[in-house]
Amino acid sequence: MRCVDVLIIGAGLSGVVAGKRLLDARKTIQLVEKSASIGGRLANKRFDGAFFDTGAQFFTAKDPVFQNFVSDWVSSGVVKEWYSDYPGALSVHPRYRGSPAMNIIAKNIATRLPIKLKTKALRISREGEIWKTSFSNDEEIISKAILITTPVPQAIEIIDQSNVVLNKLVRKRLDKISYESCYAIMAILDKPSKIPSPGSISIADDIVSWISDNQQKGISEIPAITILSNLDYLEYKNADIKDLEQSIIDSAEKYSEAKVKSYQTHFWRYSKPLEQDAQRFVEANINTSLPPLFLAGDAMAGPRVEGAFMSGFYVADAITNNLS
Ligand SMILES: Cc1cc2nc3c(=O)[nH]c(=O)nc-3n(C[C@H](O)[C@H](O)[C@H](O)COP(=O)(O)OP(=O)(O)OC[C@H]3O[C@@H](n4cnc5c(N)ncnc54)[C@H](O)[C@@H]3O)c2cc1C
Repeated sequence: MRCVDVLIIGAGLSGVVAGKRLLDARKTIQLVEKSASIGGRLANKRFDGAFFDTGAQFFTAKDPVFQNFVSDWVSSGVVKEWYSDYPGALSVHPRYRGSPAMNIIAKNIATRLPIKLKTKALRISREGEIWKTSFSNDEEIISKAILITTPVPQAIEIIDQSNVVLNKLVRKRLDKISYESCYAIMAILDKPSKIPSPGSISIADDIVSWISDNQQKGISEIPAITILSNLDYLEYKNADIKDLEQSIIDSAEKYSEAKVKSYQTHFWRYSKPLEQDAQRFVEANINTSLPPLFLAGDAMAGPRVEGAFMSGFYVADAITNNLS
């Protein structure tokens, strides 16, 4: 069985950023991702000639470390500024988008990384000073350290399947982290939307919280919007999905002033962290005799693209120091 320095569970943004930085620090790594593609919540979809961002719609860059990376991405054409002026707003941080779509940001970072797709981590077990991880496809990987970058409830699921006991304070920190859920409806319109330039609208007090016009954004050649819901998951989890979709579409059509011709839906169970950790990553083996076990992701360094990036960046340095 192959042994790597670090097994990274989850190939969303935080996972690939950590993977790249660990590889640059000459660590041997393996990433595993349960889905058929990388990027996690940096996701896009294409159907019937339309193209959509289905998860994160844009990102901002406030930390100077992140800003440097973003400037390089802008220079190489991986990222474009979507807008930095918004009607009625005095000044806004530039809103960036991936080019052609958000997922390219993760793909671009992951170019040289060893990633096993369709490989869901089920359990981790301690074998002396190292970890053994078991997967849905019956494979196993041995590693000196593990980094879990899934949404925290999914990380807890792996830990709980594994008979791994964390320090009580660490466990309390993780149990406090919660997420909101969101339906994303990707809709093709019968004509261009009337959503004001630059093609986004944020809505308070409605069943819809956000609409992006993917045509104005420069992603889709034909009129197509991404509609994000504003629903309490627990309240609506037993609702009829068709009724729910229709209510969301009816509401969005008020803003787009165009009819939805066809649509697809994606449900994000863990869309954005509501409660976050105070640190940029969690060293979960602290005060135990477990081998290195780290958690990273947007629940630690901020509930957005920039937070996921910074968490992956700093956890990689901590793991490198730990293994040296
Ligand atoms: C609808 C929506 C809109 C958003 N809008 C914005 C926005 O406008 N601006 C912004 O900055 N941010 C936005 N965000 C948030 C942003 O997308 C996230 O903060 C960021 O992408 C999170 O990255 P991550 O690496 O922490 O997690 P993820 O992207 O969730 O990556 C985790 C990965 O782990 C994988 N995984 C899970 N369990 C397992 C397992 N057992 N084994 C293997 N792999 C596993 C998942 O498939 C996933 O690929 C939005 C998110 C959503 C859903």
